[in-house]
Amino acid sequence: MECISVFDMLKIGVGPSSSHTLGPWRAGRRWIAELKENRQFESVISITVDLFGSLSLTGKGHATDIAVILGLCGYDPQTIDVSTISSIIDTIRTSKQLKFNNEILVSFDPTSQIIFNREFKEFHPNGMTFHATLTDGKKIDSSFYSIGGGFVVKEERKRKEKKLTEFKEFPMPIQKATDLLNYCQTQNKKVSDIVLENERSLRDDQEIDHRIDQIWTVMLESMYTGCHTEGTLPGGLNVRRRAYDTHQKLIGSAVYNTPTDWIEAIRDTEVKFRQILKWVSCFALAVNEVNASLGRVVTAPTNGSAGVIPAVMMYYMVIENHDANFDDIKQFMLVAGEIGSLFKKGATISAAMGGCQAEIGVSSAMAAGALTELMGGTPEQVLMASEIAMEHHLGLTCDPIAGLVQVPCIERNAMGAIKAINACEMALDTDAAHAKVPLDKVIETMWETAQDMNTKYKETSEGGLAVKVSLSDC
Ligand code: SF4
Repeated sequence: MECISVFDMLKIGVGPSSSHTLGPWRAGRRWIAELKENRQFESVISITVDLFGSLSLTGKGHATDIAVILGLCGYDPQTIDVSTISSIIDTIRTSKQLKFNNEILVSFDPTSQIIFNREFKEFHPNGMTFHATLTDGKKIDSSFYSIGGGFVVKEERKRKEKKLTEFKEFPMPIQKATDLLNYCQTQNKKVSDIVLENERSLRDDQEIDHRIDQIWTVMLESMYTGCHTEGTLPGGLNVRRRAYDTHQKLIGSAVYNTPTDWIEAIRDTEVKFRQILKWVSCFALAVNEVNASLGRVVTAPTNGSAGVIPAVMMYYMVIENHDANFDDIKQFMLVAGEIGSLFKKGATISAAMGGCQAEIGVSSAMAAGALTELMGGTPEQVLMASEIAMEHHLGLTCDPIAGLVQVPCIERNAMGAIKAINACEMALDTDAAHAKVPLDKVIETMWETAQDMNTKYKETSEGGLAVKVSLSDC
């Protein structure tokens, strides 16, 4: 049984895409580690990278080439100063040289040495192969697959894994929602209690709290940055940042200096009914505008859907419970992470495999379940809220205009957050013991829908809005 940590589902990274940016970035770093393990790294004199399938078709808009370069240079997506990215890339493009893992200077012209192939690899739509020539003339290569949410696998390892009988397992292994519910019911515990027990088998409490604190800090900063940044997003679509204007209207003349003060300032504003929707949308838009401009966000479960979870958590903090504290944030993230892992195990969190239901749909389900627990819902209602949220995203296609993670992606986060809140409210008002559609059934349905979905709606920009509206229309 797959052992997925909350911190596999919620990762700090750089926008705009987890599968097309974070994944290829991490693959580059993994290739370096592999070369070092095989004592070949020092002998590399030239590098070429092949991108396949969806990575190629939407790779330029999703900054896959930039991510590959940064990975090959050895930068860490969690710690890189994002304000330096464009100058690093400009220098490499101009000099046609790259400092491999920040150690060896190799000639590298991104225009000719990153190759965008339309062909799809059988194993997964997001394939990439790194090639190197060594000092003795030998040529070697290594292939990786970015399977969504920043996860990267090697085909041979994945196949071997399927044969393994020994897996690292949590004390309470969970493959399906029914497993999770069973632990909750037999032990009379909340979903977050079960998830925390499992997480404790991987790391101590101090480490868990530290990581959750880091995640929330990045989420809060991404909302704050997005709400305080004016202008137009990069990429040529001329999308105007909207969070700034909406935020200005909502916050009025409040004075604050830090993101934490900002939370208090929002709590102090008199939020009227209509403004609740505007605040939630504003938080979600803010994160995804930061994401679209290669800023730092938390992959939750993907970058394209990074705004839903922070927006719903912030809704709880500034609307529902002004006394919310770190314990609430921790509880929320534990539940959200576990719900996300159920979708990863039973279906997919990759838009290249399942369309946007796998991104916004999953993030909305994660947020709905997590909010429901904070609002006092039972484990049955937590799962029901997640089910409702996904049920109304089933079949949602991925069709980003110009391959950029902007339209429809940014607005879609606002819609996913609002649906999550509504799903929570409906579940709280329902006797969940009599749910007609269990969460496991909706996960199965999502996976079957993913398999039936035409490839043109799976992050290829070959269908839907992506062909109806072009860069020249904008
Ligand atoms: S349409 Fe959805 S899945 Fe596709 S890139 Fe945008 S947010 Fe991601």
